[in-house]
Amino acid sequence: MVYDTEDLIMCEHCKEQLEKAKELGIFSSHDLGILKNPRRVFAFNFPLVMDSGETKLISAFRVQYNDALGPTKGGLRFHQSVDLNEVSELAFLMSLKNALLGLPFGGAKGGVKLDPKKLSEKELERASRAYIRELWKFIGPSIDIPAPDVNTNEKVMGWMLDEYEKIVGHKAPGLITGKPLVLGGSLGRSTSTARGAFFLLQEHFKKELEEKKTLRVAIQGFGNAGSVIAELLESIGMKIVAVSDSSSALYNETGLALDELLSFKKGKNSSFSKFSGNAKQITQEELLMLDVDILIPAALGGVIRKENANNVKAKLILELANGPITPSADSILNTKNIEVIPGILANAGGVVVSYFEWVQNLQNYYWTEERVNSELQEYMLKAYNAVILLSQKDKLSLRGAAEILAIRRILEAEKLRGNI
Ligand code: GLU
Repeated sequence: MVYDTEDLIMCEHCKEQLEKAKELGIFSSHDLGILKNPRRVFAFNFPLVMDSGETKLISAFRVQYNDALGPTKGGLRFHQSVDLNEVSELAFLMSLKNALLGLPFGGAKGGVKLDPKKLSEKELERASRAYIRELWKFIGPSIDIPAPDVNTNEKVMGWMLDEYEKIVGHKAPGLITGKPLVLGGSLGRSTSTARGAFFLLQEHFKKELEEKKTLRVAIQGFGNAGSVIAELLESIGMKIVAVSDSSSALYNETGLALDELLSFKKGKNSSFSKFSGNAKQITQEELLMLDVDILIPAALGGVIRKENANNVKAKLILELANGPITPSADSILNTKNIEVIPGILANAGGVVVSYFEWVQNLQNYYWTEERVNSELQEYMLKAYNAVILLSQKDKLSLRGAAEILAIRRILEAEKLRGNI
């Protein structure tokens, strides 16, 4: 049987998004064709020796979707359900995100099909290093720069950097971002995804905040992004009424005691299903259906689908996760006039500070946290204002406007390169 990559890479959501862009009549289908499939796809299986002595073959991917604007950039996730379709879609979204934020990067994403919770620390380290041994020739500070994503963290980035530096024989901190500080990481990187979204919400609800209105927030996912945004929003008087983790969701109409939740999460056996404080246990699905001012999906993709979108009652959804709303659900939310701040804008704080980290690595000059946060705010608000302006001018959803701005920038670069 003969395969061609067009058949292999079935990023259905990318195609649907491009169809929508085409319908707006701004881009020609000829020009959009260059974004229909990724430019480069790496799919491989590496042997992982387990502590027991047994060897497992682990599937892994890296997709460099588009590199017209610069070296490709995007995170790397460890998850048992990772597949090429998902990684391609995420790499497509990274391309749009980096373009929208005005970063000098194309977009990429990586994935390793394993459940890190089932691995020992040593097994995880071997898997991280093995991934780099397979890929080192095709990544680099001016080729493709990975970063953390779902289930990967500073420690994993540190192992990956070390493996790469051992192979190439010189230091190269700009290879990867989201590293530990002593290995060339940036101050403010670990909280940057949440902080970037926080700046947007502060701007979006400026009037309500000035009038001291209490805004009610539900957050799905209480990992790095979800827990940090909860704290930041509470600090400006918003009320966090619901949060969830992978075990359960907690609800308190008058506001959850966030400090209790944060200290509970630090302990062992800290799944919310075991929480006995002042909160009602609800299902994760019920959380998504709460009548709140702001709903923040901050975990995995595809949680708001055409089957449940009709029951969503939030006034605004901020996509802190990548792709939590499927394209068909998005159309339903649109008809219900539910505003959505799309992930390519809402969660861009992470990659913006990754960009600052990379700049610091290339210059060997390190910034203060104040500088990182204030430049992050500038980047976020600049993109936000451009999106709002276009959406008002052309009567578009925020997602539609964000995608047009991003695609326009990529296609301009492709044209100047003579590719279209
Ligand atoms: N994984 C994050 C994202 O999806 C960060 C990517 C990066 O910093 O390169 O935006």
